[in-house]
Amino acid sequence: MSDIRFQQIGRVFTRNGEATAALENIDLHVRDGEFVAIVGPSGCGKTTLMRLAAGLDAPTSGQVLVGGEGVNGPGPDRAVVFQQFALFPWKTVAENIAFGLRCKGLRDAERDAQVAHYVRLMGLQGREDAYPHQLSGGMQQRVAIARSYALEPEVLLMDEPFGALDAQTRTVMQEELLRLCAISPRTVMFITHAVEEAVYLADRVVVMSRQGGSIVADIDVGSTRRLEQWSRHERIEDVMDLPSFVDFRSRVWKLLRDQDFHTIASEMA
Ligand code: ADP
Repeated sequence: MSDIRFQQIGRVFTRNGEATAALENIDLHVRDGEFVAIVGPSGCGKTTLMRLAAGLDAPTSGQVLVGGEGVNGPGPDRAVVFQQFALFPWKTVAENIAFGLRCKGLRDAERDAQVAHYVRLMGLQGREDAYPHQLSGGMQQRVAIARSYALEPEVLLMDEPFGALDAQTRTVMQEELLRLCAISPRTVMFITHAVEEAVYLADRVVVMSRQGGSIVADIDVGSTRRLEQWSRHERIEDVMDLPSFVDFRSRVWKLLRDQDFHTIASEMA
């Protein structure tokens, strides 16, 4: 496994000669095996932060370290799951999951075993030969997660992976992801708009500010709670009524609301 360290990160975008600071002075450490959710208003720099960890973009200042090594581009130690499932439409479920493994140079037998393992874990048995268009959105996202997991990356970077799913499917996928993380822990950075999703899934919830792309709060929601939840087979609807859950949820909501208040106040000034 591996940790992710953002050190004094700044990212300035220049468009039509005008510079915008998407991120400023970000210091964040996602520890080995930790699940960190990033929440914040649209445009606060969440995706930019994740793209830096993925090596899909480079910071203007500071550096990102994964497992102590500077990030200089994408690598097999990091898998990315986007909201749009990004499956190959011309490949079957099994071929999609096997794709990265082929690139990794696994032998056929090893690859088939790995694909079968993750097909089973994500409940995709019987759908191995289906094409993405024959699957529901939820099923497609299962394939995307299975494909990322099959690569056995040390770090999983997820950008609103359940954002396009209906509420019911989303709940099932959240439970499935927790189960997968309990069986096979990974260092996870998970971007979401949904406060409840963040508190339910994460060990820590990082709240970003609307202005200037900085971190306004880093809340430890209990690193062992997540595994306990699963071991007790608690569903999100049960967990949501727990006093500790209600407390964390309202703390995060309040932080987000306060920022809206400050933004409106500064726009009116
Ligand atoms: P979020 O994921 O929180 O919605 P983003 O990271 O996508 O936010 O964007 C943060 C800010 O950076 C926004 O103001 C956005 O317009 C700007 N931005 C992001 N990518 C680019 C780009 N490639 N060129 C110019 N501006 C960008």
